[in-house]
Amino acid sequence: MSCVFCQIIDGSIPSKSVYQDDVCYAFADIKPEAPVHILIVPREHISSISHAKKEQASILGHLQWAAAEIARSKGLGRGFRTVINTGEDGGQTVDHLHVHLLGGRAMTWPPG
Ligand code: AMP
Ligand code: ZN
Repeated sequence: MSCVFCQIIDGSIPSKSVYQDDVCYAFADIKPEAPVHILIVPREHISSISHAKKEQASILGHLQWAAAEIARSKGLGRGFRTVINTGEDGGQTVDHLHVHLLGGRAMTWPPG
C-alpha cells in the first residue's frame, strides 16, 4: 500500500493523533501553516472529493462535523477555516481525501 494517509491510519507511519472515530482519523499536519493545523481523513480510502460516490456523501459531512468538533476542543471560538484541496489546480499533493482545519490566527481572503 503506497498511500501515505492509509499508512498513517493503520499506524505504520507515525502521526500526532487529535481525534478518531469509526469514520475518520485526525492528526497534526507535519508542516503547519497556522498555530492549529489538523488534517481530518476518512478511514476509507477516497482519492479526492471528485472521486466520492453518492453513497459516500455522509462521510463528507462527517469530516466537516469532525472539523467543527475538533475546533471546539481546541478552543477556536474566534473562528477557523476548513479547506479541501482537489486535483492539480486545487493544490492537492496527497491523493487521499482530507480536510484541512486551520486556526489560531486570522485568515486572509482570497486564498492563494
Ligand atoms: P494537500 O496539499 O492539500 O494535499 O495537503 C497534504 C498535507 O499533508 C500537507 O499540508 C502536508 O504537510 C501534509 N502531510 C504530508 N505528509 C504528512 C505526514 N506524514 N504527516 C502529517 N502531515 C503530512
Ligand atoms: Zn489512502
